[in-house]
Amino acid sequence: MCGIIGYVGGNPAVPRLINGLKKLEYRGYDSAGISFFTEVGVVTVKAEGRIANTEALLREKYPDAQSVCGLGHTRWATTGKPSDANAHPHRVGRVTLVHNGIIENYKTLKKECEAAGRVFRSQTDTEVIAALADIVYERRGDPVATLREVAARLEGSFAVTALFDDRENTVYGFRKDSPLIVAETGDGNYFASDYIAVKHLTDVYRFPAEGTVVEVTADGVRYYDREGEAAPPAPIRVTDVNRDDGKGAFPHFMLKEIFDVPDAIRNTCRDRVCEGRPAFDDETLQRLAAAGRIFIVACGTALNAGKLGKVYIEKFARIPVSCELASEFRYFPPLCGANDSFIFISQSGETADTVASMRMIKSQGLYTVALVNTPNSTIAREADGVLYTRAGTETAVASTKAYSAQSALLFLLALGLGMQKKTLTAETAAAFTKNLTKGVPAAIEKILADTEKIKAFSEKYCTAPSCFFLGRGPDFFLAEESSLKLKEISYIHCEAYAAGEIKHGTIALIEKDVPVIAIISGDKIRAKTISNAAEVKARDAKVLTVTDRLVPGEDETADDICVADCPCEELFHICAATFFQLFAYYTAVGRGRDVDKPRNLAKSVTVE
Ligand code: GLU
Repeated sequence: MCGIIGYVGGNPAVPRLINGLKKLEYRGYDSAGISFFTEVGVVTVKAEGRIANTEALLREKYPDAQSVCGLGHTRWATTGKPSDANAHPHRVGRVTLVHNGIIENYKTLKKECEAAGRVFRSQTDTEVIAALADIVYERRGDPVATLREVAARLEGSFAVTALFDDRENTVYGFRKDSPLIVAETGDGNYFASDYIAVKHLTDVYRFPAEGTVVEVTADGVRYYDREGEAAPPAPIRVTDVNRDDGKGAFPHFMLKEIFDVPDAIRNTCRDRVCEGRPAFDDETLQRLAAAGRIFIVACGTALNAGKLGKVYIEKFARIPVSCELASEFRYFPPLCGANDSFIFISQSGETADTVASMRMIKSQGLYTVALVNTPNSTIAREADGVLYTRAGTETAVASTKAYSAQSALLFLLALGLGMQKKTLTAETAAAFTKNLTKGVPAAIEKILADTEKIKAFSEKYCTAPSCFFLGRGPDFFLAEESSLKLKEISYIHCEAYAAGEIKHGTIALIEKDVPVIAIISGDKIRAKTISNAAEVKARDAKVLTVTDRLVPGEDETADDICVADCPCEELFHICAATFFQLFAYYTAVGRGRDVDKPRNLAKSVTVE
């Protein structure tokens, strides 16, 4: 979370730092700030709220800043509320720095620094890094040795960039369990917490190893490990990131990204279909097909996609699948055996709990597959096999096209595994592949062609302070995702329930006009969910049913029925997800929410 940018070069630093922060702002937006060298030393401008507040202060205080070196930060508060004082950069003595992550032993270190005479002005954990660095620098007089010693004292996760007063026009950086990249470009040399900040300048960057301190000047970049100056890490060339990161004529990134869904699915499937059938890298397919059990580990929306994946893989390939919350899995792993394989899903490929879970499993010598959207991200680099979704850059905090692409890729993978295991004939796999690659994008385009209808539903149903989603089986998994989408951007209290479960407590919350959205598909449990919808309707709930087809008589249990077009019942959930993405979007817009940057959230959750 949060964004870090650092710049040294022959050009004005301030506009470059601000530009970099704007590209990273979706990763944290509680406050922002920059520091840069001037004739009178390092100065800092920072403010609570959006980057515009920092920009306004900059215009007032340093309208003609000519600095060629500095660093910047956009914060997602973990320790200390969002405020001017807690905004980064933090300065103690001769050291000014920014930090992404959490320092778990900051209280102990803070006491030590206070005893050494350092005064703290913020409530953040970050300020102890600056204080400790100032103390060590006094003794060692060398920034690289100082930062190496400081890094060794920190527990937790961190990416840090720092300026030292007497090392003019030099930026230092180091990291552990948090991303930080270095890019040497024709425009100057950069640090960034995400490649996205520099992708308009270069498609090559380097990823410093943990334990390395990096020194960046206008002349070049030097890497220091324990032995002294070290060879630079291998360059990483990014070839397949969608460079169009604007929102075009759309009022929000989220709406643009929902409209990207059909292409995200087409692009994700494109290279993986050969002669009409799924075609995956042999090793990945064989290892997964040979698994006694597949564990899918992820957080939030990615886990909801994983749950659909479980349905697909169990149905088509007959391999048992367990879906696990990464934040629980890493500390309370279920029993697993040498014959199990693991799929880790993450849009960013940097999700802290998912990264940690993957490392834990890898260290046991078990087979890991990354299913990620961001090329060369940590999970992609470290897993044994990689399956990229090709949804393009996703900027809105609420994931839409990435979820749809993850679900589609899991569907295709399940077909591939089914063929590999011979639990599915090639003909059946081909028919489903066609439905997925042709039918689904076309069905979603139909949903996108009638947004007014969805907007009207959102106006009718999302008037109450809470909202319930019901479904069974895969309908329930879609209900969970739809509920999450609605709550995260509209701030309406939403709950998803397995429809049969409500009578064990939740139905007590149903009263007149409470909105209940029933998701119903297929035949198997149709009558059962209809009965549950009837139960809440009998208690005066306002019921909207979203289904794969109209069945005569079902309208008695709903105030409205909406049919989400889909090529077959197995693919209903991927198609209907876009209905609910739009439903959440229009509800949030109707409530005047900041759709792309909902409160308290940030894209790419790099803290645990
Ligand atoms: N832990 C630091 C803070 O609360 C950094 C948070 C972040 O990654 O933005 O200020």
